Amino acid sequence: MFLQAETIPFSRPFLAPGSLERLGSVLSSDHAHGDGPFTRAATEKLKVILGGGGVFLTTSGTHALEMASRLLDLAPGDEVVLPSFTFSSAATAVAMTGARIVFVDIDPATGNIDPEQAAEAVTARTRAISVMHYGGTPVDMAAIATITAGRDIAVIEDNAHGLGVRTELGVLGRIGDLGVQSFHDTKNVHSGEGGALVINDDRYLQRAEIMREKGTNRAQFLRGMVDKYSWVDWGSSYLPSELNAAVLDAQLAVFDEIQFARHAIWNRYAAELAEWAAHVGIRLMNPPGGTHAAHLFYLLMPGADDQTDLIASLRTHGIVATFHYVPLDTSIAGRRYGRALRTLEQSERFSRRLVRLPLWVGMTEAQVDRVIKAVREWRPKREVS
Ligand SMILES: *Cc1c(COP(=O)(O)O)cnc(C)c1O
Repeated sequence: MFLQAETIPFSRPFLAPGSLERLGSVLSSDHAHGDGPFTRAATEKLKVILGGGGVFLTTSGTHALEMASRLLDLAPGDEVVLPSFTFSSAATAVAMTGARIVFVDIDPATGNIDPEQAAEAVTARTRAISVMHYGGTPVDMAAIATITAGRDIAVIEDNAHGLGVRTELGVLGRIGDLGVQSFHDTKNVHSGEGGALVINDDRYLQRAEIMREKGTNRAQFLRGMVDKYSWVDWGSSYLPSELNAAVLDAQLAVFDEIQFARHAIWNRYAAELAEWAAHVGIRLMNPPGGTHAAHLFYLLMPGADDQTDLIASLRTHGIVATFHYVPLDTSIAGRRYGRALRTLEQSERFSRRLVRLPLWVGMTEAQVDRVIKAVREWRPKREVS
């Protein structure tokens, strides 16, 4: 008899202690809509992790990116520089304003925007550079700051992967003008769906508050600053329910434990796959200075065929591994809403070679063992030249 081992999923949302109690207390209270006590508690915890900033919980990371576009008043005729290797939300948040996207390549050492190409992509129409810290590995923000210095170009940091990562220039999400967090249930900290906009330039604070409240000054009204609230600006319904905030608050309460558990798995992959990887010509994720958020662990396969081959091989062992972003510049919508600075070879190469391994809080030592053993069994089909 052959016993089929239980499938190891790629990701599994963590249930933080105290989540159900918090949900119960919201449901039995009179306040399940947004901006109640759990929104305040979660926002305070985020501010501690981020070391300040104007923090607004949103319904998703995508919505926080949309708010960033609106706060910058992006409009037709404007351009935004964006890496091709990123999530579609960063692009669609620009496209919805009528501004054009100029796609640039990544640095294959990190998967992050290549600052040299970003500099080259800047024109008189450039209003923003939107960067993403892949896996929480910091973008070279000093190089980005050099590009925007003395120019009216905003920096948006998509920090969906890198909550809490500290760098010499500051905590990720706090370095650019506007930062974005995601609490989708595949992220390190989650509320099912959710996000946050982080404002690092005070001139955006008041409008952000209004936009998030359907374009009204309701927040000022609640603080007793105005005696009625009304429609004062563009807006939408970007504030999450207290139910989502309650789940988020429970997660943030154990943020250090979550990060510790994720780093432990990441460190095992890095240590126990190193020798094998060197032998078969595979490059492992290797963030400069060892700085990352343990959001993901990836391998870069020698050839594009090897990507599908390793994923399929792991699947036969009951292990779900996966690729990641398909370059946006060559996508259907990418061609409609933007243009590439040139052929973006590194994004293409990275995308076709990358395999991500399961990494989630609650993975047992035995499950990590199984992944490592199954990965190490893989051999290239042909000689690596
Ligand atoms: C998850 C993610 C987002 C979007 O977040 P949602 O909360 O799912 O809308 C944006 N950018 C990156 C890099 C992401 O990984």
